[in-house]
Amino acid sequence: MAEEEIGEEYLFKIVVIGDSAVGKSNLLSRFARDEFDHNSKATIGVEFQTQVVEVDGKEIKAQVWDTAGQERFRAVTSAYYRGAVGALIVYDISRKTTFENIKRWLDELNTHCDTTVARMLVGNKCDLENIRDVSVEEGKNLAEEEGLFFIETSALDSTNVNTAFEIVIREIYKNLS
Ligand code: GDP
Ligand code: MG
Repeated sequence: MAEEEIGEEYLFKIVVIGDSAVGKSNLLSRFARDEFDHNSKATIGVEFQTQVVEVDGKEIKAQVWDTAGQERFRAVTSAYYRGAVGALIVYDISRKTTFENIKRWLDELNTHCDTTVARMLVGNKCDLENIRDVSVEEGKNLAEEEGLFFIETSALDSTNVNTAFEIVIREIYKNLS
């Protein structure tokens, strides 16, 4: 088990993966700091951010990792995945190719992590309804096929961002007992 217990606390490593510009860094900054960055910076410059979440009266530290732009060169290293107990696999609902690449990301995740990793398929940018390119149904179907949780989020307007992380954290916690 890669979960670390620190006294009464828990530390869960969660990785965020998916194509470049789907909104991974902004999901993370929305979750950890309630911030959104309108300028597309490939790298915010931190490896991970930590946010404390309470589950069943237990304090859980979610250590969420950002690829810091490595995904642009298909160079996400095994160190990135090491010890992960949860994963958000993200696509952009306004760009079909990012959805089509989800299988590739799942393959990569499966190469580096065992199947017990709590996995959530995330369709981000659901605020862009007017230019939607992937239906909710397509997202749901893929998640069902692959045995993933599924949610649509917007890092821009905050829709479901905390919920996405909390579902994953609860699932990891559930798997401990
Ligand atoms: P990353 O490469 O996956 O880390 O993506 P970023 O977080 O850097 O975001 C890429 C671009 O998409 C930036 O211009 C963001 O401002 C924008 N973006 C991220 N999340 C959302 C969202 O939920 N809605 C909209 N409309 N734009 C977003
Ligand atoms: Mg990024």
